Formats: sequence, structure tokens, C-alpha cells
Amino acid sequence: MSTAIIDLRSDTVTQPSEQMRRAMASAEVGDDVYGEDPTINRLESRAAEIFGRQAAIFVPSGTMGNQIAIKLHTRPGQEILCEERGHIANWEMAMLAWFSGCMVRPIAAPQGILSWDLIAPKLAPPIYYVAPTGLIELENTHNMAGGTVTPENTMHDICARAHERKIPVHLDGARIFNAAAFLNRPVAELTKGFDSVMFCLSKGLGAPVGSLLVGGKEFIAEARSVRKALGGGMRQAGVLAAAGLIALEEGPKRLHEDHANVRLLAEGVAAIKGITIDLPTVQTNVVICDVSATGKTSAEIATALKAAGVLIGTVNPQLVRFVTHLNVTTAQCKQAVEKLAAICRA
Ligand SMILES: *Cc1c(COP(=O)(O)O)cnc(C)c1O
Repeated sequence: MSTAIIDLRSDTVTQPSEQMRRAMASAEVGDDVYGEDPTINRLESRAAEIFGRQAAIFVPSGTMGNQIAIKLHTRPGQEILCEERGHIANWEMAMLAWFSGCMVRPIAAPQGILSWDLIAPKLAPPIYYVAPTGLIELENTHNMAGGTVTPENTMHDICARAHERKIPVHLDGARIFNAAAFLNRPVAELTKGFDSVMFCLSKGLGAPVGSLLVGGKEFIAEARSVRKALGGGMRQAGVLAAAGLIALEEGPKRLHEDHANVRLLAEGVAAIKGITIDLPTVQTNVVICDVSATGKTSAEIATALKAAGVLIGTVNPQLVRFVTHLNVTTAQCKQAVEKLAAICRA
């Protein structure tokens, strides 16, 4: 394990803590397909409790959690409304078409933040020869819009108006705890309007593997069948849930540190000639910036930074992405800014 590398590609790269490794080593386990893994059962009931829901199910990835929810909320031939840069539309292998037989009707939203005003014109009219809107999906925080936060009232408003029209709403809350830290609000309050919520333990919360899908009792019972069908019955996965429990209890408490680090990074990078950042939109642990005026492509910048020991992500030829997490320090963020400045000067 190299400590010299500054890895700002994603908050998925975090290493499990010593406390997690100890908990994993001594986890009580059983066969979860028989519902007999006590550690998974504890994680699921704790997640349900924290989100103020009836039930939760542990899944190997956020993608599986989202896709199970989509399968249960829709039927083939329906449309799903989501923001055009959304994870389900771009990073989940077109699985909503493959597995659920649906299409995305994407909506472009400033900063990735949907509102009812943006959604309403995209709803299918109630005409028999038009594909019906089967689901509305929100992503909070919005990854590809740079970790932006959809405000609480906006979420409540969308859920209420969708429900008036009998349309379910799913939240891709991979980073909902980052939104909760930014808004200083409990996740249960923020997400109470949604029919289902997926969140990741494996991102900023620091677990090595796993996500949860939370919702009503019957919905989660059905989710258990779909998870099994997808090959997600994980037997003695209590070793993973043990780390997940620590992530769930301890992870949210320190997210403000990642947010402070991203702010420092963003302000430093914004001062580099040729790099553009919309600073007010930098709210959580992600920053996306435009490097095109440096005369270099995002790939050239990423390659040069890699040679200097800093790993970053590229979104497209113009945009690069930095993500902070528990394995990058404030000092390392400052170093990353200095190295990037040197590369852009050269
Ligand atoms: C990471 C992520 C997911 C799930 O990703 P997995 O790699 O499948 O765990 C879903 N939505 C968003 C917004 C994400 O960032």
C-alpha cells in the first residue's frame, strides 16, 4: 500500500480502517440466503432505523440497489425520468433497458438539480399510444454535476407532485450522507418522500464493499427475490456487513472534513490560469473543473499529474474530477494543487 500516492479519483478507493478489519475478522456470520447472518440482519435493521423506514436490504453494489428498485417500480415499456448526467442513465450498463425494459427520458438540469418545473413538461400525457412515465429518479448528491445538493424542499415537492399522479420516486442516494452533512439535516427527514432510497457504504462512508436499499416492508421483501435472481445472495457476507456497520455509524460524522478539503482544493485550482470552476456549486466532496483553456486535454493533465503522484478522474476531454475522502489529508490536497499549478505553467 503506497502512502505517497494522492488518490483523488473517487471516494470508492478508501481502505478499510483497522477498526473495520478487526470487526470483519471477528464478525458473527450465517447463511444470509436463509436470513441467518446476524451481522447482515443488524446492518439492515440499523439502516432502516436511520432512514425511518420499515426495512432495508444489503446489496453488493449501488448499481444493484438502483436496478432492483427500478425493476420493482416499473414494468417494460415505460419511461424513467432522470437528470441527463445521472448514474442510472450513464454508468449502469443500460441495465434499466436490459433488465427492466424501460427507456430513460433524460432531463438537462442546471447543476444536476431537478425541480418539478423541469420534470412536468417531460411527463407522458395520459394517451394510450404514448409510453407512460413509470418512475422519476433523483440523484443526491449529483455525482457528474460535481457533488451538488438538491435542496430538501425541492425533493419533497417532487415526491408529493409525483405521488399525486401515482408515479413512484426513487432516490439514488449513493452520497446522501454528504448531502445530509451539507444541509445539516438527518437523512430520514431528507428522504422521507421517496418510495425507495439506495445509499452506498463503499464511498465516503469508507466500507470496502456494499450498499443498502431501504423502503417499505413488502418492497424490500420483493427486493430480496430480485437480488437473488441477480446473483446477489451473498451467504456469509456478515464479514462485509461488519465493516458496513462501522461505516454507517462512524462514516457520516467526518464527511465535513472531506467537504472542507474539496473547498480548499477547488479554491486553489480555481486560481490556476486556464482552469475554470463554478465555486458556489462546490458543496460536498466532489469538484469538476474545465481545463480546456490551459491548452491541454483532461487526459494530458491526468497523465502529467499521475507522473507526479496524483491520481484524478476525467469526465470528458475538457473536464477533470477530484473527489476527497478519508484517505486524503488537507496537506495532500494542497500538494495536489501545487503539482497541478506546476503542470499548467509548463
Ligand atoms: C457510485 C455510484 C453508484 C453505485 O455504484 P457502484 O459502483 O455500483 O456501487 C450509484 N450512483 C451514484 C451517483 C454513484 O456515484
